[in-house]
Amino acid sequence: MSLLCPVCGSFRVTSVQVEEFISVPYGDKISYIKRIDTCEICKEVGDFTGSSNDVEIEEAYRSSNISAAKNIIYDLGKIGISEMTIKRILGIRFSLYEVFKEEPSLKLLQVIRTFPWILDVIDMNFDHEYIGKIVEIKLKMEENNETK
Ligand SMILES: [Zn+2]
Repeated sequence: MSLLCPVCGSFRVTSVQVEEFISVPYGDKISYIKRIDTCEICKEVGDFTGSSNDVEIEEAYRSSNISAAKNIIYDLGKIGISEMTIKRILGIRFSLYEVFKEEPSLKLLQVIRTFPWILDVIDMNFDHEYIGKIVEIKLKMEENNETK
């Protein structure tokens, strides 16, 4: 299939494929094949098909999101936060993995993985006094870590 340069209309286009990587926070690094077309006449560079890279990138993101949901649920389990606990606190009746494997709900899981104590804040029904106390404790812990 000969490609047309979108800038000058030449058919003298060369294509190469390179391996690129995508990873979302806590997700696996997923590789995909990026296509790069170059016009030999005007030197324009890009994906001249207009969309073949988009599909690859979307698939890579999807795979990384799915792995992130799995990894986070596993990591939280390792620090003693079970799926049952998360489901109870968030009021989820379905499988956590099914709920969180896609954006934007994955973002919530990423926040919980980054600040696991946020589950306690939710469990305390966002009580302002409790939030004040826990934030104070966490800030002190961070200060101590920085001075070590
Ligand atoms: Zn061209």
